[in-house]
Amino acid sequence: MISSVLKVGLWCTGLIAGLVACSPRAQTVPILMLHRVADEASGDMWTLKTAEFERLLGELTHAGFHSVFADEIIWRGLGRKSPVSKPLILTFDDGDLSLLTTVEPILRRRGFKAMVYVSTANIADTPDHRIHAEGRDYLTWTEIRSLRAGGVFEFGAHGHRHIRADQLIDPDAEIRDCLAAFETLGGFRPTSYSYPFGVYTKPLVAVLRRAGFTTAVTCTERTARIAFGTKPLKLPRIWVRGVGPSLDGAEWIKGDSP
Ligand SMILES: [Zn+2]
Repeated sequence: MISSVLKVGLWCTGLIAGLVACSPRAQTVPILMLHRVADEASGDMWTLKTAEFERLLGELTHAGFHSVFADEIIWRGLGRKSPVSKPLILTFDDGDLSLLTTVEPILRRRGFKAMVYVSTANIADTPDHRIHAEGRDYLTWTEIRSLRAGGVFEFGAHGHRHIRADQLIDPDAEIRDCLAAFETLGGFRPTSYSYPFGVYTKPLVAVLRRAGFTTAVTCTERTARIAFGTKPLKLPRIWVRGVGPSLDGAEWIKGDSP
């Protein structure tokens, strides 16, 4: 009797020691938030000049960063340190046409990949019916399917109608409409979400979790720490502005491996 109690005790001690040894390490992962890239500055905070975008990517390459899709880093981060040295996630909100014409070729040439979050009500089926709103041209489903097949972009959801979560009367219906468009017109179901205007509410987070989303990004401005216990549906991002403070000399770029 005593020996079996001892055995159980030793087994538990070994199990606890093993769990501590295997405990995941928190890892710093910068998640950059961008919207649109254009040759000329427009004075709009969310339009980054092409030359500035090239310079930023050059700086990230020089610092040794490697871009990953959102879900890649979450699954690696939960279990262990990422095998990718200095991981980073580039994100683009809204699905501006410049992603096709300007951003994709630059990312491909420089060996980067990025997440793109689209609001499905802004996405027409084909370029003939392209939606133009608030001074922007949006991607179409034909283009999204082709870009996704190219491997540089993975697409996530940015709501159906681009409404702040605290103004959504029925979050369930909003996500249902969004997913229906992705599945019917895009041919896939997204697993990553970007909150329009960065606003999230408990009911919306619960809807996303039930719908199978595994990551979601906010507009809270700081570097994410990914580890066991990180809330992957409330990830912070670093803003890349077209005007105002730039990222030049930012601590997270200059620092050693996180
Ligand atoms: Zn947006």
